[in-house]
Amino acid sequence: MKPSQPLLEVRNLNKIYVQHRWFPGKRFQVKALDNVSLMIPQGSTLALVGESGSGKSTLAKCCTMLEEPDSGEIYFEGNNLAIMSQQELRRRRPQLQLIFQDAATAFNPRFSAAEIIAEPLVIQRRGSDGERRKRALELMEQTGLPVEAAGRLASEFSGGQRQRLAIARALTLEPKCLILDEALSGLDLPIQRQIVRLLLELQARASLTYLFISHDLGLMAQIADKVAVMHQGKIVEERTPADLFSKPQHAHTQALLAAMPVLENRTTAGGA
Ligand code: ADP
Ligand code: MG
Repeated sequence: MKPSQPLLEVRNLNKIYVQHRWFPGKRFQVKALDNVSLMIPQGSTLALVGESGSGKSTLAKCCTMLEEPDSGEIYFEGNNLAIMSQQELRRRRPQLQLIFQDAATAFNPRFSAAEIIAEPLVIQRRGSDGERRKRALELMEQTGLPVEAAGRLASEFSGGQRQRLAIARALTLEPKCLILDEALSGLDLPIQRQIVRLLLELQARASLTYLFISHDLGLMAQIADKVAVMHQGKIVEERTPADLFSKPQHAHTQALLAAMPVLENRTTAGGA
């Protein structure tokens, strides 16, 4: 394991969306990504913050090639995903998992918790029924879900538990990198802390790499090695959380910090 080796690196990513407005003949171009470059060493966490519409989700989707950039390179373990064949991409994608805020809405409502967690193994045709079930139970335990609830439907779990299910499912294929796009937003603070603790434990155990997208600077201070600030499709600043809080450089970062007065209470969470 080489901690300084970049696991995920994007170079000069550009993405323009064409938006159609209600009045006829009018089209607008939105530069969602404007020459974005970033690098995440293996086993570390980069937090990405920025106001709504600044391009964070577009970047997350491009990193996993769910969305194709107009130009630029996306290196995962040194291989450029942007020019990879579909077949090769399918082979590598399990290593790089994206978790959305509303990930649980995509669950099959007729599936039990264990089936939801084991499904990626079924899709990849890995393991026997028994082995898949064992892995699902293992992951439930790891993510702090009650193992005795393995047969319950996802809709019968609380919001926090459903998000744990989404995380457990994302871990099924033993990814090297998780991209969490507002994945903890909307959850109660104690649940967020528990999940953050879990993510840190997993990182310590398996050297997981995180791209952690959040508009919550307090949460990010607990988890990030570096913070990148996004504004209008550009990364305008990238620094350690301590540096960002003590001497924000960019006017936009200062505005973001000023808009978030709850920090003191959040950083005393005792590591999660
Ligand atoms: P964030 O996640 O930071 O809120 P997004 O990446 O979702 O920002 O969006 C960046 C910009 O791109 C916004 O102006 C948004 O309206 C636009 N956008 C995102 N996805 C699409 C799409 N599929 N079609 C058109 N415009 C989009
Ligand atoms: Mg978003």
